[in-house]
Amino acid sequence: MARYTGPVCKLCRRERQKLFLKGERCFSPRCALERRDYPPGMHGQMARFRRRRPSDYHRQLREKQKVRRIYGVLERQFRRYFREAERQPGLTGENLLVLLERRLDNVVYRLGFADSRAQARQLVQHGHFTVNGRRTTIPSYLVRPGDVIAVREGSRKRTYFKDRAQVLDAQRAPRWLSLEPETLSARVVGTPERADVDIPINEQLVVEYYSR
Ligand code: SF4
Repeated sequence: MARYTGPVCKLCRRERQKLFLKGERCFSPRCALERRDYPPGMHGQMARFRRRRPSDYHRQLREKQKVRRIYGVLERQFRRYFREAERQPGLTGENLLVLLERRLDNVVYRLGFADSRAQARQLVQHGHFTVNGRRTTIPSYLVRPGDVIAVREGSRKRTYFKDRAQVLDAQRAPRWLSLEPETLSARVVGTPERADVDIPINEQLVVEYYSR
């Protein structure tokens, strides 16, 4: 599946909000948003002085783009998630976020095996993880309750995972995931809920965007 390969700090600057796409750097003064808090491009700086109230469409579009960029999903796939969320019972916006949270790359990131979703995606694609004992290289795989996600036997000896094992913290894992740092594995013990998504997102705007 294709992915965005351009400069990522630009995406945060466009949304004028930290999307935490680069791991540690996002928490340091080297974060681009700390230094240039205005949209990229020739007229970016002018945005700071614009007083006009953004249109509804503008707010809906920006929120949709923000969610997409946080989870690293391209438009076509994101639209598919939305259609799937619409089919499910309950609130479409919440269903959408739950689907995104269940992605394997997001789970790997949430468990603390990677500093960012992009890094988690790469680890999955390089075959470092198994789901229920089977090597899985598909970042968009949707985990279900009962699934066991583990670092592949052959990858455990790598320095990267040995170092990770030292910093993994079962207490910091989401409540729907049960992490065992000693075995570098985790079990999905529930389904994520809206409250588990700790990123400031107004999913209603995304629903409005696709319902136009
Ligand atoms: Fe966004 Fe992180 Fe880049 Fe800062 S360092 S602009 S939070 S991706």
